[in-house]
Amino acid sequence: MNTYWNKPAETMEREEMSNLQAGRLREIVTRLYRQQPFYRSKMQEQGLLPEDIVTLEDIKNLPFISKQDMRDNYPYGLFAAPMSEIVRVHASSGTTGRPTVVGYTKRDIGIWSEVAARSLVAAGLSKQSCIQIAYGYGLFTGGLGIHYGAELLGASVIPISSGNTNRQIMLMKDFGTTALACTPSYALYIAETMQEMGIDPRETGLRTGIFGAEPWTERMRQAIESQLGIKAMDIYGLSEIIGPGVAIECSVQNGLHISEDHFYPEIINPVTGEVLPDGEKGELVLTTLTKEGMPMIRYRTRDLSVLHREKCACGRTLVRMSKVLGRSDDMLIIRGVNVFPSQVENVLLGIGNTSPHYQLIVERKGNLDHLTVLVELTEEMFTDEVRGLEELEAKIKGELSSVLSVSATVRLVGPKTIERSEGKAKRVIDKREL
Ligand SMILES: [Zn+2]
Repeated sequence: MNTYWNKPAETMEREEMSNLQAGRLREIVTRLYRQQPFYRSKMQEQGLLPEDIVTLEDIKNLPFISKQDMRDNYPYGLFAAPMSEIVRVHASSGTTGRPTVVGYTKRDIGIWSEVAARSLVAAGLSKQSCIQIAYGYGLFTGGLGIHYGAELLGASVIPISSGNTNRQIMLMKDFGTTALACTPSYALYIAETMQEMGIDPRETGLRTGIFGAEPWTERMRQAIESQLGIKAMDIYGLSEIIGPGVAIECSVQNGLHISEDHFYPEIINPVTGEVLPDGEKGELVLTTLTKEGMPMIRYRTRDLSVLHREKCACGRTLVRMSKVLGRSDDMLIIRGVNVFPSQVENVLLGIGNTSPHYQLIVERKGNLDHLTVLVELTEEMFTDEVRGLEELEAKIKGELSSVLSVSATVRLVGPKTIERSEGKAKRVIDKREL
C-alpha cells in the first residue's frame, strides 16, 4: 500500500496543481513588487508589472536570480519580511566571497517541516523509524531541516550532527538506528569505518539512508547500498530555496518528486536561459510559491537535471526531477572540453577494483591544462602484483579519455589515502590561476 504524508497535495490532478501554482505565483509576484525593492527594480528594468504575470507560461518573462544577487545584497537585502517576523537565519559558507544568507518566518519553518516530513515518508520512513541525523547542524540547513521534518513525522530523532565516526557507529548499534541521514560520501566513509571495526551493517537495524547535499551517481548508490545493506534514497534541497525536502525519491527510485505546490521547477539552457521542454537536460531553476521570509523567483540552482511528468508507480502525481547530473559550476573546462566529476565517478565505479574515492587535479603546465585523476584502490587490489596494477591504470586511462574526450594522467593510490569528508566531498582541486 502506498503511504503519503499529505495525500491531497502529493496526488493532485495536473490541472488543479497548475491552477494552484498560477494563483500562488500571481500572489507572490504582486507582493514582491509592492514590498521588496530588489524585485521591484528587477521587474521595472524589464518593464514588467505584476498584472503581466497571469499564467504559469508568463513566468518565463521574469528575470532570473543568481547566487551573485544574494552576495550583492548581503546579508538581508533579499528578505521580504520585517526582521520581527524572521525566526531563523541560515547561511552557506561558500568557498569564495560572502556567504549567502537566508531567512525564514514561522510559517516558512512550518512549510519546510511539512515538505521534509513528506520526503521522509516517501523514502519509506514512519513514526516507528529511528533516524540518526549526521548532517551538520548549525548555519548549514541539512541537520535542522531533516530534524524538523522527522519530529513532525513523529520518528525518533538522534541529532548527532556530522563527525566523530566511531561514535556514530557505536550509537547506531546501541540506539537501534533504522535510518541514516548524511551526505553520500560520508555514508561511504561510515561503511568503511564499520568494516574496519569489524561490524557488519546488516546485523544492525539500519535499513534506509536519506542522502543528499552533493551530486552522486547511480553507481555510487549501488556501492552504498551493497556496502551498508540498505536502501539509499536521494533527497534534494538547497538553502536558497528552503533546505532539504525540495524533492525526494520514492520507492521506485526513478527520479525525485518535487513538492511543486511549494516550489515551481523549470529547466533552462544554462547558456541562453531559454526554457527547455520536459525530458531535456538543462539547469534546474526554482521559484518558491509560498515562502514569506525570502521568496525566490526563478533561482538558478546550477544543478543539471531533467524533468519527467509521466505517471509514477508510487501514485504521486508530483513532477520528477532526475538525480542531479552534475553542477554547471562544477564543470571544468580543460583544453576547451567540458568535464564533470560525475563522468569520472561513473567510469571508475563501472570498472571495479577501485573504491568510490577519487579526486581530480587540474594544473596548467606552460599554456596547457593538465588533468590528473587520483584513483583509490581497494584493499584486495592494493596487494596485487604490479602487472595487474599497470593494466588497471591503462584501462582507466583509456576509458576516461574516450568518455571525457580529453586525456588524463591516472595515478593509483593506496586504500584510504584520499582525504575523507564528513560533509561534502572535495572532488576537484583546480590549481590553475584562471
Ligand atoms: Zn514515485
